[in-house]
Amino acid sequence: MEQKTEDKPHCLILPYPSQGHINPLIQFSKRLAYKGITITFAAPQDILSSAAADISASIAVESISDGYTSAAARADADPREYLATLKREGTESTSRLIEKLREGPGRAVDCVVYDAFLPWGLAVAKSKGLFGAAFFTQPSSVNVVYYNVFKGLLKVPVTEREIVLPGLPPLAISDLPSFVVDQEKHPGLLELVMGQFDGVEDSDFVFVNSIYELDKEANEWMKKSMAVKTIGPAIPSIYLDKRVPHDKSYGLSLFKPDDICMRWLQQRSPKSVIYVSFGSIAKLEKHEMEELATALKLTGKHFLWVVRSSEVSKLPENFVDEASGKGLIVSWCSQLEVLAHDAIGCFVTHCGWNSTLEALSLGVPMVGVPWWSDQATNAKFVMDVWKVGVKACPNEEGVVEHEELVSCVKHVMEGERAEEIRENAMKWKELAKGAVDEGGSSDRNIQEFVSIMMGTQSQK
Ligand code: UDP
Repeated sequence: MEQKTEDKPHCLILPYPSQGHINPLIQFSKRLAYKGITITFAAPQDILSSAAADISASIAVESISDGYTSAAARADADPREYLATLKREGTESTSRLIEKLREGPGRAVDCVVYDAFLPWGLAVAKSKGLFGAAFFTQPSSVNVVYYNVFKGLLKVPVTEREIVLPGLPPLAISDLPSFVVDQEKHPGLLELVMGQFDGVEDSDFVFVNSIYELDKEANEWMKKSMAVKTIGPAIPSIYLDKRVPHDKSYGLSLFKPDDICMRWLQQRSPKSVIYVSFGSIAKLEKHEMEELATALKLTGKHFLWVVRSSEVSKLPENFVDEASGKGLIVSWCSQLEVLAHDAIGCFVTHCGWNSTLEALSLGVPMVGVPWWSDQATNAKFVMDVWKVGVKACPNEEGVVEHEELVSCVKHVMEGERAEEIRENAMKWKELAKGAVDEGGSSDRNIQEFVSIMMGTQSQK
């Protein structure tokens, strides 16, 4: 017999308001709802009313404030100022929301699942006598680096040639998350990623959007300090185990996808197309765009390139017209649908964690061109640990030149190791599906949390 709504445990979900954080937290919410948890997903109003907002019917949404009313205003704000306002306004509005839900007809909130970028979520939960669960949107391999910096065991800025950390392969400086190497370039962002560990040892649960086996040793090392549980890949169920009904897309896109992509891909032969995207935040320099454009032309292959409208002016003159025979340039697409299409032969990606995990989950080989944040570390794992692609090598000025890009694409799509890379990609794809399918490592971790919330299992 199904539990009545008022009897179900209730989780309040707090994502950091950017696309790469909203997506995994929505997916985690859907998994919890599928397993019988009442979900309230809270975000700023402008995000909830985005162009392509169609969150699952099983999730209630409520607005909280970060003090800003548009994505553009957030992007333009000084990070330190933004984070201070977010903390102040977020704390107040989340506290008010918890009270409102307590007085409402349904069951009061039992647990706040907060994005680790919002460590104040734990303080709010504790002040209300609730469970607090941290949710990390980057993998444990990256967390090992950050946590070592947080604990003062790795000094920043890092200058050693080779960095040896527990649970990780030896790393070069160019493999480290950018904020621990060059904090001057992006003031405030080292504090943001360090803040993820504020009080985390007191969190009742610590979730990571990853698969245990992807970086097993890093997960094991993190477990010595906190109860890390992998729950990923947090992507729509249709691409993995297909168990969650109607779970076909993330359901909340801050950009409007161009639906020409699938019709265009339909006309291409299997594994022939290069898909290029740098996610929702990266801003390339004009000359970097030119190198990329030249490379795509030189490969002679078909390509689908996502260039957000704020980036279009940096494309070489006439490129869109000249490319029209071979290439399609769109301002946004439904990336999962694209990656799942059999015409895609490789993904030239900035290696944002969601994009990386999506490509792993769909068995797509990658050429990593990291831009900032944890992307360099993810790209290192793509090449040397999971062996599902290569990491492009920049020149001394940090620019990936077109010759290098062409050679990386050829290596992955038709080089001597192309077949082996494709086989590895298929292996991780299977592993991703197995992790969230019934009894898989992530499924067991999610189920354990649900059982504790339901009171049918006690917390260890
Ligand atoms: N994405 C998308 N369409 C695009 C480009 C990106 O749907 O045209 C999605 C992608 O599937 C991923 C997210 O946007 O879930 C980007 O997150 P990621 O962590 O890769 O990068 P970020 O945007 O945070 O740099």
